Amino acid sequence: MAIGWEKDMLDLVGDERLLLDAESRTRLSKDYYWYSPVLEPKLRQKLADGVVLPSNEEELVKVLSLAYRRSIPVTVRGAGTGNYGQAVPLQGGLVIDLSRMDRILELGGGTARVQCGVKLGTLERRAREEGWELRIYPSTFMKATVGGFVCGGSGGIGSVTWGNLWDGNVLEAAVYTMEAEPRRLVVRGQELFDYIHNYGTTGIVTELLIPLAPRTEWMQSIVQFPELGAAVQFGEALTRDGSIAKRLVSPMEWPIPVCFTPIASRFQPEEAAVLLETADVTYGAVQKLAEDFGGGIGHVTEAAQYRKTIGLSDFTWNHTTLWALKGDPNVTYLQAGFSPGDYLKQMGLIKSAFGSEVLLHFEWIRSGGEPALSSLPLVKYRSEERLYEIIAFFEKIGVRIFDPHTWVLADGGRGEAGSMLRRKRLNDPQGLLNPGKLTASPHEEEGGTAHGHG
Ligand code: FAD
Repeated sequence: MAIGWEKDMLDLVGDERLLLDAESRTRLSKDYYWYSPVLEPKLRQKLADGVVLPSNEEELVKVLSLAYRRSIPVTVRGAGTGNYGQAVPLQGGLVIDLSRMDRILELGGGTARVQCGVKLGTLERRAREEGWELRIYPSTFMKATVGGFVCGGSGGIGSVTWGNLWDGNVLEAAVYTMEAEPRRLVVRGQELFDYIHNYGTTGIVTELLIPLAPRTEWMQSIVQFPELGAAVQFGEALTRDGSIAKRLVSPMEWPIPVCFTPIASRFQPEEAAVLLETADVTYGAVQKLAEDFGGGIGHVTEAAQYRKTIGLSDFTWNHTTLWALKGDPNVTYLQAGFSPGDYLKQMGLIKSAFGSEVLLHFEWIRSGGEPALSSLPLVKYRSEERLYEIIAFFEKIGVRIFDPHTWVLADGGRGEAGSMLRRKRLNDPQGLLNPGKLTASPHEEEGGTAHGHG
């Protein structure tokens, strides 16, 4: 790190916007990587040399320009709720916390234009006040930022209807490059794929235009089934049924709900459950469909109570892992995509091979317009070797794994790493943006010396 950059940065942003104390640097150098026992020991000691909190684009540009001239690595941070150490500064340098860039610039007519640091929960509340709502959001929406979701997330509540981030759920982004004079790019269409789920490696997103859905009143229900297979099949039928508006279809096996302490008593012991958010007028249709698969509605939270009490979505997606970890610190998880026509067989093979070592819960989503069965299985952690044996088994039987135990984007299986690498060379010629996250090879990220990426 260049000597004396702190003084130059202080002159630029003032001492309220530059944090150099050990406590702040430690806190703001971490995300939820500790969900992974593989990542935890590797990332525990990583620390930024300083944290800057710009409050507008002009300040950000000055900070980036100074960092470029001094060759200081830059890792951007939203709320730091990512799970793979995406926001951890592997090589020290600066963390740029963008949570102060939190203005909703325009809202209405089916879209919202926002600064990257707006919290998704705030945007959802504002949108619903105006007759709209978010199409998709992660289960961390009360804390997570729009920029952090777009650059570090994938999908969530709403994805059962609207798909994930790559399915038209980002319309436009303003992006800054990492150069002596950072350029402001306005990106739309296919080009957005170089920035969605980029971990801040190809550019810094400051503003986003996202589509909204008309506001719906959501009922929440728990539908119970004697068998997990029937629960998942019911979920598929519901996903395909265009007459039932829905936001959440989350099947899970017993005994996962035991760890949901605030709502555990709402579940039938020993039965599989599907956690639902469906439009409030759909009770009869959901009940009928559940009966077709041998199940029935158990608990219901009326639409009038939506967001007034703890919601069922607080127990789905990766929040399931959070609750499981509260009960047993030796639990970890995988990210998996089951095959549409083969999931019952795949589930059976996994249960026979691993029993309660692997507990299954699912999210029905749409991907490219088609129903898809995504899962974040809970795994009783024994060792890294055993974890990768389990991963190998999943892959052998055709279940796709997006490895959450790596911070390297190209290894996690999501995103467009090849195209992003080309974009990175254009936007970040010194390889300063979140170095070490796009590929494992520093030479590839710096440009010019890459092999096999064109
Ligand atoms: P951060 O963690 O701060 O950042 C994420 C990544 O994006 C980092 O690499 C960071 O450098 C980069 N970044 C942040 N802002 C910008 C920017 N403006 N420009 C460029 N790069 C930027 N994810 C899901 O997709 N769906 C879920 O349902 C979900 N559930 C979760 C549940 C739990 C309990 C936890 C702990 C995590 C979950 N996640 C989920 C992961 C994570 O919460 C989301 O991806 C979230 O949207 C990240 O937002 P953030 O503001 O915290 O981003």
